[in-house]
Amino acid sequence: MSQTPTRADFDQYMLPNYAPQQTIPVRGEGSRLWDQAGREYIDFAGGIAVNSLGHCHPVLVEALITQANKLWHLSNVYTNEPALKLARALVERTFADKAYLCSSGGEANEAALKLARRWAHDHHGAQKDRIVSFSHSFHGRTFFTVSVGGQPKYSQGFGPVPGGIVHGEFNSLDSVRELIDDRTCAVIVEPMQGEGGIIPATPAFLAGLREMCDSVDALLIFDEVQTGVGRSGAFFAYMEYGVTPDILTSAKSLGGGFPVGAMLTTDRVAPAMAVGSHGSTYGGNALASAVALAAVEFIDTPEVLAGVRARHECFREHLEAINRQHGVFREIRGMGLLIGAEMAPEYAGRAKEILPLAIEEGLMALIAGPNVLRMAPSLVIPEADIDEGMVRLERAVARLVAGR
Ligand SMILES: *Cc1c(COP(=O)(O)O)cnc(C)c1O
Repeated sequence: MSQTPTRADFDQYMLPNYAPQQTIPVRGEGSRLWDQAGREYIDFAGGIAVNSLGHCHPVLVEALITQANKLWHLSNVYTNEPALKLARALVERTFADKAYLCSSGGEANEAALKLARRWAHDHHGAQKDRIVSFSHSFHGRTFFTVSVGGQPKYSQGFGPVPGGIVHGEFNSLDSVRELIDDRTCAVIVEPMQGEGGIIPATPAFLAGLREMCDSVDALLIFDEVQTGVGRSGAFFAYMEYGVTPDILTSAKSLGGGFPVGAMLTTDRVAPAMAVGSHGSTYGGNALASAVALAAVEFIDTPEVLAGVRARHECFREHLEAINRQHGVFREIRGMGLLIGAEMAPEYAGRAKEILPLAIEEGLMALIAGPNVLRMAPSLVIPEADIDEGMVRLERAVARLVAGR
């Protein structure tokens, strides 16, 4: 009559919309995790680019506990000190003049898209409602964001899709030229496609989008939910590209594991969201804001950001060494600590098979689509954990190759 939950409980009690691995981790410290049986894992997955400082980082634990003993939640009928500090910290570090706080990436994008529609409506009229997005993009799972996203399988079967959305080809300015006109209110793009396969935008593509948006007075939205808050090696990836959006969304790394999201914009655009136009009960929650502020202040330092870029090189060298041995990858790419290894033609579509093998070897990794092995570890993962994790990954890859 054990009360300890098992993996079978997932199938019995939870909605069948996920297919989690068999192991159930119960404790984490830095870039290591332990499951119910006490087995240890090295974490190259980082909760899908979320655990930016690993598990239970003392700075985040301290911020959470201190705030937990003061005040958790007020609603938006009042404001609170952590939310004000977080908004200020984000504005002071970026192009933005104003921040909207929420609890996830999808919510941040929902706010961004509604803001763009509303701004265009107020400044140009109701006919300016067209949103340009890109194939293979991912912007969240709310019905608006999933419809804007470029993977139709995620929005099919749920009834009529919101209108006014068109999709171009990522990294092709020619494809955008045919879609953008005076009716366009916004272009939304990930500076590096994450779920779509770890595909960085070319600098010319982002610069060209900026120009085209300016020419028709459309707003440029950068979805930095996955690339932001140190993940790319800059505080936000747009800083590396030198192209500034009108609206930027952030989540994932921002909370280091606590649910939080943010939408940033300028004083030109922000007034379109007047009192009562949008909101969220948990947006600006004091606990979430306190943790996110601690994460932002810790990550946005020259040392941590330089550390991310150094670790990128370390990952790349290890993956290239594994590839010299086994020839499983066609290309290793990415920015900072968001790294993809695309499978070689002989292993096309088989990235997913590496994951359970890696688990057996004591390593957690990710995929980005059927063809790309993805890694998004802690931004401060110790070198020893990278080395040991790569030993385990090599064993998993060797088993894939040997078919055992
Ligand atoms: C994960 C992700 C989202 C969705 O974030 P949620 O917190 O799951 O709602 C949106 N955009 C990008 C680029 C993402 O990687």
